[in-house]
Amino acid sequence: MIPAEIGNLIGGRTLPAQSGRWLEKLRPTDEAPLYRVARSDAADVDDAVAAARAAQPAWAVRTAVARGDVVRELALLLRERREEASAIVVEETGKPEELALGETDAAVEMGLFVAGEGRRSYGRTTTASMENRTVLTTRQPLGVAALIMSFNTPLPNVAWKAFPAFFCGNAAVVKPSEHTPASASFFAQLAVEAGVPDGVLNVVHGLGEEAGAPLVAHHDVDLVSFTGSATTGRVINEVAAGRLAKTCLELGGKNALVVCDDADLENAVRWALASAFSNAGQRCASASRIVVQGDVYEDFRERLVTAADTLDPQTMISREAMERILAGIARAREDGADVLSGGFRLERPGWYVGPTIVEGVGSAAAISRTELFGPVTVLYRVATLDDAIELVNDSPYGLTAAIHTASLHRAMHFAGRVQAGVVVVNAGTHGSEPHMGFGGVKDSGTGWREAGIEALDVYSDLKVVNLVVDPSKA
Ligand code: NAD
Repeated sequence: MIPAEIGNLIGGRTLPAQSGRWLEKLRPTDEAPLYRVARSDAADVDDAVAAARAAQPAWAVRTAVARGDVVRELALLLRERREEASAIVVEETGKPEELALGETDAAVEMGLFVAGEGRRSYGRTTTASMENRTVLTTRQPLGVAALIMSFNTPLPNVAWKAFPAFFCGNAAVVKPSEHTPASASFFAQLAVEAGVPDGVLNVVHGLGEEAGAPLVAHHDVDLVSFTGSATTGRVINEVAAGRLAKTCLELGGKNALVVCDDADLENAVRWALASAFSNAGQRCASASRIVVQGDVYEDFRERLVTAADTLDPQTMISREAMERILAGIARAREDGADVLSGGFRLERPGWYVGPTIVEGVGSAAAISRTELFGPVTVLYRVATLDDAIELVNDSPYGLTAAIHTASLHRAMHFAGRVQAGVVVVNAGTHGSEPHMGFGGVKDSGTGWREAGIEALDVYSDLKVVNLVVDPSKA
């Protein structure tokens, strides 16, 4: 199903890295060799950017409706091949099939949403201070977009960027995660079949420092759209700023789920569990902090720990990720945390860490501030809702937050004061749907929103057109 060798896609041709080097990919569930993937560097990036630059003008002159039609074809093709796509995701991430299928469907929906913009793509008309003048706004492509992404939901991660990028008339160079190149290549292969012209969607595989960095630094890249960690985001921001490139960064989270003393505890436990542990916590929106109001703390803790112990563990994406997560838990222990559940590597092949719940540290502890991107959540006890809000906001991140309460007043008080890009009442800290702008504040991003019509603001530029009429010539 996955080819033994995964090459780059440059100008419609599948090619090995010019250096001839490859990266070995191991299957997360049993560490068996899965395939090898091109280990690209600046030379391959140069070729991909050149191919994108050459293809972009002819693509951009097509109407938005025509570009939307191609986006729709690709989305429908992905829907048709959803089992195949999901099977690739399962192989290279180790996640359950049900999750992979759901993600594939989410990627399809993003395509269908973006395709519809072909017939909407609204601008504004406005007044002017001068007589006989009409002012309108139109959207312009940016040119060449570098799309760099994480591994955690490989197909939606590509879809959220690639669909709006080429819908807006750009050509793109995708640098997928080195952990999930096969899903990205499958998407690109379908793009070719769907009629995306050669060079409009290029894929360059490899390591961040070797293939991602030259793409960010490339003088002919007009937009850098990145989803990944805040640490990498900082480096990318500095490099791209040096040449004044437009830069959209969607970064990490330390998302909090608050349980008030009037909450439906069964519902709160259900959502806390899903928020903290689905996809093994490898979600930017994962609930890695759970803040509980005093009176219900013990009851909630007991229910959560009992429920967590029944979960099927999932593998981490790599050995390094597993080791980083275990080191974070060990550090929490040193800082005085009690580990109530999990906290260790499972004795089986693969990189499994059991669902882990800890308590007994404050918001200054490393585990409270560092995103582990794994199945680890910290419980905190607070007295009042305002104490909860203070604790939630005492974080470098501000991506998503949730509150469980029966009170509209508490829910709205929280929603108004919490520092986050997405707030959820009585459900989980989850991401977005295709029509909802997604992103965060503080270290969670640079203020752009992906998905939704807001994504069009990332991938296009506004042009203000002034139309001056001479009434004497009418
Ligand atoms: P990462 O930052 O290690 O890597 C992300 C991508 O950047 C990879 O493709 C990698 O190869 C590349 N990269 C690494 N160094 C680079 C460099 N110097 N220049 C250019 N590219 C470089 O992140 P990860 O471990 O893949 O993903 C986990 C992170 O992603 C978490 O912080 C998570 O919260 C975040 N994330 C955010 C969102 C969101 O929408 N906000 C969604 C998913 C994941």
